[in-house]
Amino acid sequence: MLKSKTLTCVAIGGVVLGVAVGLYLATAELPTTHAQGAQGSQPQFSPVKALTAREAYYPGTEDLAPGEMRITACGTGMPNARPKQAAACFLVELGNGDKFIFDIGTGSAERLSALAIPMDYLDKVFIGHLHSDHFGDLDALWVGGVISNRQRPLRVWGPSGATPELGTKYAVERMQEMLTWDTASRLGNVNTRGQQIELHEFDYKGINQVIYQENGVTIRSIPAIHALDGPVSFILEWNGLKFAFSSDTYPNKWWIEHTKDADIAIHECFLPPALLVEKQGWPVQDALNVGTQVHTSPAMFGKVMSSIKPRLAVAYHFFNDFDTRPEVERLVRMTYDGPLALAVDYMVINVTKDDIKVRMAVINEDVWPLPSVTAKLPADPSERIGFTEFIESGREVFADVIQEAYEDTNKRFGTNVQPPDYR
Ligand SMILES: [Zn+2]
Ligand SMILES: [Zn+2]
Repeated sequence: MLKSKTLTCVAIGGVVLGVAVGLYLATAELPTTHAQGAQGSQPQFSPVKALTAREAYYPGTEDLAPGEMRITACGTGMPNARPKQAAACFLVELGNGDKFIFDIGTGSAERLSALAIPMDYLDKVFIGHLHSDHFGDLDALWVGGVISNRQRPLRVWGPSGATPELGTKYAVERMQEMLTWDTASRLGNVNTRGQQIELHEFDYKGINQVIYQENGVTIRSIPAIHALDGPVSFILEWNGLKFAFSSDTYPNKWWIEHTKDADIAIHECFLPPALLVEKQGWPVQDALNVGTQVHTSPAMFGKVMSSIKPRLAVAYHFFNDFDTRPEVERLVRMTYDGPLALAVDYMVINVTKDDIKVRMAVINEDVWPLPSVTAKLPADPSERIGFTEFIESGREVFADVIQEAYEDTNKRFGTNVQPPDYR
């Protein structure tokens, strides 16, 4: 297996992304060249046929092989909102059909929607800790998922805390309370089967404890060291493949012991302290504390990866730009010389026992929700809470155009739905 360090430039959507990816050139399916066509016996290009080889991943257009894992970065950035990088989120898809979301940081629900996956399949979320950049879009996935045709409950796993109010159960229940008006407003207007949440809070101190075991997939948690007691990292094992995701953590003995020889190890790699000062205007004291004590710095990330030696190390949790990437990579390379990917949003990693392929996804910004997997039920109007007489008294009912909308729509779909009688 070729383990060269390769700096590959990938042009996506007019943006040139320098991606340091070991194995990239060894495994990418590059299109056949003109030279091969000229020298070979068969012409390689047709003026009317599509190319068969792809350098990019087009969501919804590729089968997964039975033994294959596909990981898509749906958030690789920081707590600061930014168009290019949502906050932490990685989707793991398996060849048995299972899909798992690890962290659901602010902005990441939009990235998940771009992958053109029916929402019913995006029903399992594992939250590493309760910073908003790791679970801030849970509400968007929860409520938005219902509107986008999820018919199943959302299943959420997350750690306890040192006290009950620092745990996932407390946070998710308060999120539901926060959205009391939202939930009430939807009764009778949309079917809300998908609005159930199935919550699994587990002990944050568990070491390599099994928190999920179904369909040949085992997910374990290990404690993480980050800001307060409570954070965890995750290890998923399936079909002889091992995926590890740190969420946020200072380097720790549990990660080093239990993620050894992972196929894919995704670990936080925070911006170097000097860049936190220069680019973000932090006081030096805070930059050093947050950059090396609360989080893992690039050189610390390299030490971690040199200890566990994954088939591919993936660094995330920094603004990955033309002027930050070289410094992050230089610092990682001081302590680690193995296969490396510096993650950006929409990076896609296909993993089999023999091969790891890293590409970028090309997404359709005009994407619509996919249909539900099971039959979609209409809302039950009897659930509707309705308005007070005061608000009702304010309606200006344009009965003629409403009638026309009902008639036209009924005609188009062969239905006979009648408008409400506001008199
Ligand atoms: Zn955090
Ligand atoms: Zn974070």
